[in-house]
Amino acid sequence: MAHTDAIVLGAGIVGTSIALHLAKRGLAVALVDRRGPGEETSYGNAGVIEGSTLLSHPFPRGLSALLRIAIKRAAAANYHLRVLPQIAPWLLAYRANSTLERRIEFAKAMRPLFARARAEHEVLIAEAGAERYLRRAGWLKVYRSDKTFAETAPERELASSFDLSHQVLDLDGALALEPALAPVFRHGIFWSEAASINNPSALTKAYAGRLRAFGGLVWKGDARSLHRNGSQWRLETNGGPVDAGVAVLALGPWTPDVLGPLGMRLPLAVKRGYHRHFRPRGNAGLTRPVVDYDVGYCVAPMEQGLRLTTGAEFAARDAQPTPAQLKRLMPAASALFPLGEPVEAVPWMGSRPCFADSLPVIGQARGHPGLWLAYGHAHWGLTLGPVTGRLVSEMITGATPFCDPAPYSANRFRR
Ligand SMILES: Cc1cc2nc3c(=O)[nH]c(=O)nc-3n(C[C@H](O)[C@H](O)[C@H](O)COP(=O)(O)OP(=O)(O)OC[C@H]3O[C@@H](n4cnc5c(N)ncnc54)[C@H](O)[C@@H]3O)c2cc1C
Repeated sequence: MAHTDAIVLGAGIVGTSIALHLAKRGLAVALVDRRGPGEETSYGNAGVIEGSTLLSHPFPRGLSALLRIAIKRAAAANYHLRVLPQIAPWLLAYRANSTLERRIEFAKAMRPLFARARAEHEVLIAEAGAERYLRRAGWLKVYRSDKTFAETAPERELASSFDLSHQVLDLDGALALEPALAPVFRHGIFWSEAASINNPSALTKAYAGRLRAFGGLVWKGDARSLHRNGSQWRLETNGGPVDAGVAVLALGPWTPDVLGPLGMRLPLAVKRGYHRHFRPRGNAGLTRPVVDYDVGYCVAPMEQGLRLTTGAEFAARDAQPTPAQLKRLMPAASALFPLGEPVEAVPWMGSRPCFADSLPVIGQARGHPGLWLAYGHAHWGLTLGPVTGRLVSEMITGATPFCDPAPYSANRFRR
């Protein structure tokens, strides 16, 4: 039997960062996962630390875009028909949150987190001796049509109003940054304040290693065994039962599996995504992640190869993988970059945990003393892990939070 101050459930980038921040503040912490740290969603992302992100991803706009998705031609999105009735209320709420006004509200609510995201990673990276995973080279978005580039005007204006450095590039300017790209696009935007990670899973493991150095326990166990034991929370683990006054749920897309039995149902959906690594042809290489905006995917240089990541698939979290988007984007991706052989036999699949307003839930669980929630980081969990860790640990230890956590409270769903 172990007695700790806090049990953190879920050793993705979010839970691991929370556990590390709590340990740094002197708490005895157990980080528990059924797998090793950073082996699920936090393994397979595009590795971008999107400190420059402003607007949320909108519901697809325009008849032709919707039609392409409906007839399953779009690379940017896919869906399983049988899940649509079940997630229809979520999709409608998501669409309602996709007006420019709402997306600007998102930008304002999230700015404190995004603005500190890179700096918070840099602190943990330096302390964990994990500099080899960090690239301070920004990220590049390329646009194949004048129309899609013109549509970025509001975002660029907003960026200027927030003093966020970004550079509009013509074809030659973009090729000067990434000479291996083919001239199949017309415009680029270089976001220099973004950074990227060339192995997100290894970075998460490095943070877990740092947690161990503080005496933190990194154990295996099933989060669904969480229950009340008097005034404490108790979890069964491979190291025996662990008790703590504080339990933090950071199980990403699996958080509802534990919340449901506790009687809490928050409207989370998943946007599934895929990746596959490819070897480059010849000496071609990339210095930073590149987004092919019009087609809707990202290609990111990783330790394992060039990682092609897809946009959203609306399907049940546990349904069989259907990597149709990868198939659809391959011709465009091969035209943009000289891709060689795939590294793995089958693509990887993960699930982005998303609320319809694209904000995460960070804060105390109402009606459950000592229970805290930190999930729903959608497209930005890698980016926001350490800054979430800081915020949650400040709230738990009674320190003044570095920003107002109210926009991220689960109470917003009670209105
Ligand atoms: C294709 C793709 C590309 C992406 N690109 C980016 C990007 O470039 N930048 C960015 O910031 N974000 C990106 N994201 C989003 C990001 O990966 C996620 O938001 C983030 O990984 C979520 O982290 P997490 O710690 O909340 O969840 P996870 O990493 O999924 O961690 C949850 C943990 O809970 C554990 N768990 C689940 N059930 C149980 C149980 N019953 N008992 C014990 N443990 C359990 C799991 O094993 C897992 O380790 C991308 C996502 C995808 C899918």
